[in-house]
Amino acid sequence: MNRVYDIVVLGGGIHGAACAQAAAAKNYSVLLLEKNKQPGMATSSASSKLIHGGLRYLETGQFKLVYECLRERRYLLRNAPHLVHLEKFFIPVYSSTRRRPWQILTGLLIYSCLSGKPFKITGKKNWPALDGLKQAGLQAVFQYWDAQTDDCKLTRAVMASAQSLGAEVITQARFESSVYQNSEHIISWRTDQQHSVKAKVIINCTGPWVNQSLAKISPAVSPLPMELVLGTHIVIDRSLQQGMYYLESPADGRAVFVMPWQGKTLIGTTEVSFKDSPDNIAPPASDIAYLLDVYQHYFDGALEPEDIKQAFAGCRVLPADGHSAFQKPRETIIYEAPQAVFSIYGGKLTAHRATAENVMKRLAEYLSPRQARADTRHLKLPVIP
Ligand SMILES: Cc1cc2nc3c(=O)[nH]c(=O)nc-3n(C[C@H](O)[C@H](O)[C@H](O)COP(=O)(O)OP(=O)(O)OC[C@H]3O[C@@H](n4cnc5c(N)ncnc54)[C@H](O)[C@@H]3O)c2cc1C
Repeated sequence: MNRVYDIVVLGGGIHGAACAQAAAAKNYSVLLLEKNKQPGMATSSASSKLIHGGLRYLETGQFKLVYECLRERRYLLRNAPHLVHLEKFFIPVYSSTRRRPWQILTGLLIYSCLSGKPFKITGKKNWPALDGLKQAGLQAVFQYWDAQTDDCKLTRAVMASAQSLGAEVITQARFESSVYQNSEHIISWRTDQQHSVKAKVIINCTGPWVNQSLAKISPAVSPLPMELVLGTHIVIDRSLQQGMYYLESPADGRAVFVMPWQGKTLIGTTEVSFKDSPDNIAPPASDIAYLLDVYQHYFDGALEPEDIKQAFAGCRVLPADGHSAFQKPRETIIYEAPQAVFSIYGGKLTAHRATAENVMKRLAEYLSPRQARADTRHLKLPVIP
């Protein structure tokens, strides 16, 4: 237990990986602890796999978030072209669609200004080629651009980049407690044995477990009030040739994406409040049925239960502020508690690098200045098998 790290990162999802990468790039000594066998096995492999600004966040006025995510999308397209690629995104508008063409046009105009990539109106003669999209009542089809990734591989690539810069990563290492003594945290974790190290700063990136991890830190830190919102995806045995589809659920008007994924079709996501422990996250049957209904409402061809090849779920961490899941702000919260304990609440896969850099700015006062080893805006991500 002689080693004193500048930073210990708890959790090896996308935020933990990005914080380890940013810390190592700033030349801090950093150790990351992940309880699972591999990084990126929790929320960071259960996302919609979009590297996007989030067109729908314009509706709730989250312009800063959209701008930042679109900037990060540009960096990722440049630094990880083997992991992030642009895809066409189609928005069909039917006579029954709640968002009217002028509303979608306004959103797309703003989105294209922020992204620098123009949108199009798809001509009627091209509608029959749109992967079996139902034509009855179809009034218009808009097409814009967003990007797709393999979220789990992206996390592992960022982790590998962190390690190449000197970050140490231990998997199957469950953080158990930390005690603050003589200006240092004594951090204990468990593999098949008990271990401990010292660190000046803790970054808590344990996603849905964020408050459970905070509760293990002494002196006690008050957690931020938060809610877990469960999002389910299904993978069906259909292929999409033209790109992704942005649909409105006929039941409640929520956005549902239908996307090509490894030769099949990924459909998601739902948003339901989740009160159980994050250890018990699983896709509910009602959410699977909801997603199938949306798909079948918009696409030709009957689906049988055996067409569902996979279903998975993850939880968003959102502030407990009384708003509905759709209206809750999606800005990442970086919560600083006394004695240099930083916790990340929520966030976007897309904005992981920017989030990690914001954490670095906040923690700089606790560590002596260093000569940076790299600038994360320009780091190429390695190929992960
Ligand atoms: C349904 C859904 C869809 C989404 N879609 C998108 C999208 O398309 N695009 C986008 O940009 N964002 C999307 N997001 C947001 C994004 O996926 C998340 O913000 C991000 O993955 C969260 O990463 P994280 O590292 O904070 O958490 P996680 O990935 O959950 O990582 C936390 C890690 O901490 C570890 N851990 C927990 N407790 C301990 C402990 N005691 N000791 C050691 N390790 C521990 C866990 O094992 C886990 O690996 C989506 C989120 C959800 C839920």
